[in-house]
Amino acid sequence: MSIAKRKLGVCVAITAVLVLANTGTIFAWLQDLGVIPFAQHIRSEYVTGTAIVVIVALLILLPGRAVWAISARRCPVCDCVMFRRGAYCAECGSRG
Ligand SMILES: [Zn+2]
Repeated sequence: MSIAKRKLGVCVAITAVLVLANTGTIFAWLQDLGVIPFAQHIRSEYVTGTAIVVIVALLILLPGRAVWAISARRCPVCDCVMFRRGAYCAECGSRG
């Protein structure tokens, strides 16, 4: 595990503790901003049972490699994530 991943892990842990400690405040703030009523409106209007069934069916029917190819791909040598197609691996320098 590289030092950058360890630093990221520490930052994620600290952020998670801060978010969990202030959950009530965050919810009240989101309610004041109108984010929660907006999300409830979106859920009731657009995320219907039919839409959820269609999304789940697409996730099941799409092959795993197609889903992975849309998001990112991994280096065949060191297995780290490569975001640009045809670029060299940032970790090992291999061209994937
Ligand atoms: Zn690599």
